[in-house]
Amino acid sequence: AVAVEAKNVSKIFGAPGAEVRALDNVSVTIRQNEFFTLLGPSGCGKTTLLRLIAGFEMPSDGSILLEGEEVAHLPPYKRHVNTVFQSYALFPHMTVAQNIAFGLEMLGKPKAEVQQTVTAMLKLVRMEELKDRRTSQISGGQQQRVALARALAPKPKVLLLDEPLSALDLKLRKEMQIELKRMQMETGITFIFVTHDQEEALTMSDRIAVMSKGKILQIGSPAEIYEHPTVRFVADFIGETNFIEAEVTQRIANEGQIKLPSGIVISHPVAENVGVGATVTLAIRPERIDLVRPDAEAHLKGKISNVVYFGTDTTFHVEIDGTSKHVTARVQNRRGHQEVLKAGDAVGLRIAPEAM
Ligand code: ADP
Ligand code: MG
Repeated sequence: AVAVEAKNVSKIFGAPGAEVRALDNVSVTIRQNEFFTLLGPSGCGKTTLLRLIAGFEMPSDGSILLEGEEVAHLPPYKRHVNTVFQSYALFPHMTVAQNIAFGLEMLGKPKAEVQQTVTAMLKLVRMEELKDRRTSQISGGQQQRVALARALAPKPKVLLLDEPLSALDLKLRKEMQIELKRMQMETGITFIFVTHDQEEALTMSDRIAVMSKGKILQIGSPAEIYEHPTVRFVADFIGETNFIEAEVTQRIANEGQIKLPSGIVISHPVAENVGVGATVTLAIRPERIDLVRPDAEAHLKGKISNVVYFGTDTTFHVEIDGTSKHVTARVQNRRGHQEVLKAGDAVGLRIAPEAM
């Protein structure tokens, strides 16, 4: 079932003549129970989209639906949506338990129910032992847990999380990534998570929407986004990618013949608007390139310019013959390449067509 839907949503800020188009015709459907991530660089419109869903802002155009119902007329507190901000905004003079209880008391919940929910939330975020501490006397990571407990306590249908981990140091951030995912699965609440960190998005999400300049460029599972980026921005923003220019020499239906810089021609599907003679860009992940002997059959030939040993893997920078372009290939060390190949060696690069 559908939790949240944005239909052709645009948001324009500022006076006429000085408008900022923060969102430009955005459409997305987020399912119930999903861990959904909005991923993109600073200023691309992530926070704006969250604020529209929460009801803190109204769209300039288009509509927001919660469980299939248009919510333009609903103020934030009637939307069954709650938000966790980067700044936790806890009450420092209150205890952990009092902070979690506060919102429930404001809603006029009976005392016994408040107690029961607070106990359950303390357990969920693993803060039972610190329940009587003031929040000014716990660590940043613990404050983060309290903020989550407080936001989850009223049992919202959707929890919006705007870069909630960005204030934590790396080790704590990694730990909270796993914890957040666990809390989402245990509560069954739909999470809409905002981050500019591609690794964070890949590790936590059921699905990701990649945003740039107010638009959603691609929506898919982490594997789909990583393995099959549909536009150059997505390939570039997520993970590491080699871009190789090639020429379309022939096409039959949607199958093109594509000539690589080495002169080798491969078959590959091409988009409808790509004609014979067009230059296309192939995007190839470093770990999908195999290094082979220079005299073996290969898609590209080159010379190793640099070898970087990383423990689990080794990265080879290879200058492609006849060009000044470099390609990065990453090889797992259990294969033992790093002992054989060194800077200056000639190599062949073999790439599975489905990895282009
Ligand atoms: P993100 O969260 O991805 O960093 P935002 O949604 O905060 O991006 O902002 C998107 C764009 O809209 C930015 O150019 C930002 O400056 C602009 N913007 C956001 N809020 C306002 C506002 N209240 N008034 C004017 N411009 C705004
Ligand atoms: Mg933001």
